[in-house]
Amino acid sequence: MRRLTVVILLVFAAGPISAQTDSSTASKRQAGDENISRIVGHSFTSNGAMEFLETLADTIGGRITGSDGSRQAAELILKALKDAGFEDAHTEEYKLSSTWQHGPTTGEVVSPVQRSLVIGSYGWVPGTPGPIEVPVEDFGAAILDSPPSVLARFKGSAVIVDLRSNGLSTAYVGTRAVLAKQLAKAGAAAMFIVSDKPDRMVYTSAFGFYPRAPLPVLSIASDDAAFLRRLLEKGPVRIKIDAQNSFGSGPGVERNVVADLPGEDTREKVLLTAHFDDWDPAQGANDNGAGVAVVLEAARIFKRLGIRPRHTIRFVFFSGEEQLSNGSRAYIERHKNELDDTRAVFNIDCGAHPPLGFRIHGRTDLEGPSRELLKPLAPLGADHVYLDADFDSDQETFIVAGMPIYSLWVDQRDYDARHHTIIDTFERVDPLMVKLETAIMAVAAYSFANAEKRPGPRIGPAQVQELLKRTGLEPLYKLEYSEENQP
Ligand SMILES: [Zn+2]
Repeated sequence: MRRLTVVILLVFAAGPISAQTDSSTASKRQAGDENISRIVGHSFTSNGAMEFLETLADTIGGRITGSDGSRQAAELILKALKDAGFEDAHTEEYKLSSTWQHGPTTGEVVSPVQRSLVIGSYGWVPGTPGPIEVPVEDFGAAILDSPPSVLARFKGSAVIVDLRSNGLSTAYVGTRAVLAKQLAKAGAAAMFIVSDKPDRMVYTSAFGFYPRAPLPVLSIASDDAAFLRRLLEKGPVRIKIDAQNSFGSGPGVERNVVADLPGEDTREKVLLTAHFDDWDPAQGANDNGAGVAVVLEAARIFKRLGIRPRHTIRFVFFSGEEQLSNGSRAYIERHKNELDDTRAVFNIDCGAHPPLGFRIHGRTDLEGPSRELLKPLAPLGADHVYLDADFDSDQETFIVAGMPIYSLWVDQRDYDARHHTIIDTFERVDPLMVKLETAIMAVAAYSFANAEKRPGPRIGPAQVQELLKRTGLEPLYKLEYSEENQP
């Protein structure tokens, strides 16, 4: 069919049919541009994303994978999509290997002085067997694969390790997980990771620990770790800790929420995605409530404007991102027959900050076509294409599946301070950035869904392995796709 069209154009290159084709292409392009203006206008004049985010943050709040909060969030998203006219909107369930309840965690120094400590629990780590009183040891920068003679002194102790991570990149996650295993094997009672959050805040995450960490892994405020170290310089220190986490008795159930905006041709699709699960020290507003609100509002704007793109745009809301990208992995499994026909996946999990463009995760072959397709974002300053590759969100699943995956990239500002801490609240989310990101995600999806050509193909397993090696992601891939780490 395509070949035939080319022949006709060549034969009548100078004739009237060519002129007609030109004008119809021009009018199509103009209609496309007009739609882009309407999308951007609606993104800025509607307050839908912020209203949804307020409801999500204030009525549900933290929503750990497998929890009631996570189920309520899925129901809220589903209802919003149905109310907007997405009659096909639905949930897709999948199995979780383990569920986990976040209990209170407390700690205090009992000797040589009495003082309370600011600590918190990582996710998917066991609790302590009730309150325990143990000595403290300092492992410093914690060299991996230390000889048993070094590890022996940690038996029965709470061990401080200083990974100097900012919690932003998964590059250090391997270290954390491997170290936890080595300390558990040595018989340590708990592992304390020094938090590098400001203002005495602690951090939480399950990455590298799902489906079950081998010992209690706790985050300790950097001030409190420094205090313990000063005491240790003068002599032995004993602390009392009580982490009341628990695991569910069997596997659990989670769900993604999926809705389609059908295109003229429904075979090919562009995906707009965001994860809705989050941590519970606060409201999960910036990570990733804002991303969920952006994708939902983009969906509602397309419906409101009655836009029918050339190809289908599918909106997918994942759970389980914070564990092992369980939701996106389940999506890939369930939709394996549609992956070849997915033109691009646009994921947002960067918080509401000034958007700059998209990461394409090492896919040099996509660079040129992507620059072209993202041109409509130039006036909004978000048309940059970055080759940087990371496994920091659900993009990892799509990288591994060989699909063209785009992650919104921003000027991160104070993202790190809010990330998985007590200050990830609605109050701090910048409404203007939410609107701008709504415009950007919607326009990107529209541009790719409407384009005549795809940005590039889905690549095969051998090319994926080459990409993982070239981008330095191979060690993380091995960790996360190992047999013991199954979603
Ligand atoms: Zn996130």
